[in-house]
Parts: sequence; C-alpha cells; structure tokens
Amino acid sequence: MILLVPIDFFGEIDTLRGRIAACFHTKVGVSPAQFDSGPFFNPDRNQFHSTAIIERLEKEAPASASKVLAVTGLDLYIPILTFVFGEARLNGRCAVVSSYRLDNRSYGLPSDPALLQERLLKESIHELGHTFGLVHCQDPECVMKSSTYVEELELKSSRFCRRCMASIRLS
Ligand SMILES: [Zn+2]
Ligand SMILES: [Zn+2]
Repeated sequence: MILLVPIDFFGEIDTLRGRIAACFHTKVGVSPAQFDSGPFFNPDRNQFHSTAIIERLEKEAPASASKVLAVTGLDLYIPILTFVFGEARLNGRCAVVSSYRLDNRSYGLPSDPALLQERLLKESIHELGHTFGLVHCQDPECVMKSSTYVEELELKSSRFCRRCMASIRLS
C-alpha cells in the first residue's frame, strides 16, 4: 500500500490518489494524521527542509505502508539547492513532493488547476520511482527524466519507459 500524507496541502488529493494507484497497480491511501510543518521551517530561507520531512516520515509513518509520499503546498529546499519539487530516499520507503513551485501563480501567471494536477502527478510518480530504486532516465518522455525547471516537466509524460517499468516490476 502506498500512503499519501498531506502536510499543509490544500489542493484536491483524490485525483492524485486514483492516478498513482493506476500507475503502480496498488492500493493508495490518504493519511488522516496531521503533521505540524513548524519543525521543518528554516526562517533564514523562509522555506521548508525536505530531508527533515522525509526523516520524520521514516520514524512515524505506519508500518503497513510500503511507500509513503508526503504531499505538501510548502516551498521545499535542500541546503545545496535554491528549491526542490520533491525529494526521495533511493530504494527507501519515503518521499515528498510539493505543489508550490509547480503552480503557475509562483511565476506570476494565472492559475491553471489542470496543469498543476498534471505536474504534481508527474513529480509524485517520479519521486515514488526513486523509492523503487530507479535513478534518472535519459528517455525524454520517461517520467524518471530529471526536471529542474517547471518547463521541463511539460516535455516528459507521467509514465515510465519500458526499461524503468520493467525494473519496478522486478523490485
Ligand atoms: Zn529525481
Ligand atoms: Zn525510463
């Protein structure tokens, strides 16, 4: 079972849940537990440390979940980067994605809920792919292709290429 953990996420999560379930052919649940985002906040950067969120999930997420994905609206960072769309433990159990930098409004553009949903799906599947041991893929349409900027997300699909899909099945 894949467990989605909303942390200060005010978007619609049911569509995401359904599409992740279809992609991984597994049950996907939404955690009712509330996580306080305060401990992850860095006042010097006015952002939230994604690795700290992952460490917290690793300690506290129920053992019944084989994979755990935090879904947040918070602006995430890791110390070496200005921002991240998400982060995952390679071959681990936990990952996090943020809608913050995927939202047109972060770039002064009008809101586009359908586009935001599509970007969030790609980023969610990408981070979950890392938890299944997948590294970045060179196939331009594969969801495991790395994306630093939001425009790059539009170039790839929300699906795994054949090779990536095959190694998930084996894992
Ligand atoms: Zn990645
Ligand atoms: Zn691939």
